[in-house]
Amino acid sequence: MIAIVGCGPAGISAALYTLRANIEITIIGTRQTALALAEKIENYYGFAQPISGKELFDIGIKQAKRFGCRVVAEEVVAISSCDKGFKILTPNPSEEFEVSAVILATGKQRGKVDIKGLLEFEGRGISYCAICDAFFFRGKKIAVIGDGAYAIAEANELLNVGCDVTILTNGSEPEVVSGSSIKLITKKIEIITGRERVERVIFEGGEEFETEGIFVATGVASSMDLARKLGVLTEGDRIVVNENGETNLPGVFAAGDCVNKLCQISLAVASGTVAGLSAVKYVRALRGELEK
Ligand SMILES: Cc1cc2nc3c(=O)[nH]c(=O)nc-3n(C[C@H](O)[C@H](O)[C@H](O)COP(=O)(O)OP(=O)(O)OC[C@H]3O[C@@H](n4cnc5c(N)ncnc54)[C@H](O)[C@@H]3O)c2cc1C
Repeated sequence: MIAIVGCGPAGISAALYTLRANIEITIIGTRQTALALAEKIENYYGFAQPISGKELFDIGIKQAKRFGCRVVAEEVVAISSCDKGFKILTPNPSEEFEVSAVILATGKQRGKVDIKGLLEFEGRGISYCAICDAFFFRGKKIAVIGDGAYAIAEANELLNVGCDVTILTNGSEPEVVSGSSIKLITKKIEIITGRERVERVIFEGGEEFETEGIFVATGVASSMDLARKLGVLTEGDRIVVNENGETNLPGVFAAGDCVNKLCQISLAVASGTVAGLSAVKYVRALRGELEK
């Protein structure tokens, strides 16, 4: 089975090619797509009249469903390697998947958190990946910045290595609260400070929170977050792929705005096609249907 993460133009295009090759797939994605922000599209082939991004998104989903595939409306919080290939985790335990290949089509990372001091301490106590870095912080008092399922997933990774974890929602009400040993502070953050490394968070009003490390897990896990956790090469805000949509990790493909320099629907569709066909070839080779 192939999992496609993202149901925008790149993910749906990859899905159409895998489905028509008779490979079982699951698409996991939400409606938070760049398309939804596009009020009017008039430069994409085949539409005599402008179409809204939302309408185009819905048409794409219907098109994939026509071939009988499931579109799971969940957020992917982590992808890890497993015996079968890859395990896809969502906040809903009944919607977790073990697959032999993954296509990342999660779009461009947008609107990450802007907090004073955050950039200054990157690499000096600030991390964006619990699976990658939790080990270095084992047993320490750690803050996770975020307010949703992704923040909880990162907090749980840190609990697993004995950290004392507090989620800082930076002024918003948490979407989900779970895990009794995870503490919560909802105050708005003024600044992150320290000397050589991160030492404290100062909230608006002056209250302070001492910490030995901060994990940033705001919003939904982005293509960069998911890729980094898997050990997939990234460069700036893009996943590195070759001309076949293959990443450096066998079985992981990527397409769309998360790989393209120019972010346009036509290019997302094209790269989805390439990644979809490459994933089909990979799965068939695994099954012994093709020479690798
Ligand atoms: C304001 C605006 C106007 C635009 N106008 C045009 C235009 O006129 N013409 C044009 O060609 N292009 C336009 N674009 C660009 C176009 O929208 C993108 O190039 C295109 O949508 C990229 O497709 P994609 O599939 O790569 O990513 P997206 O469309 O962003 O889709 C990403 C998918 O991944 C999902 N996802 C992300 N993270 C996760 C996660 N952790 N778990 C599960 N799912 C996840 C999202 O929910 C979504 O389903 C515009 C973009 C913007 C922002």
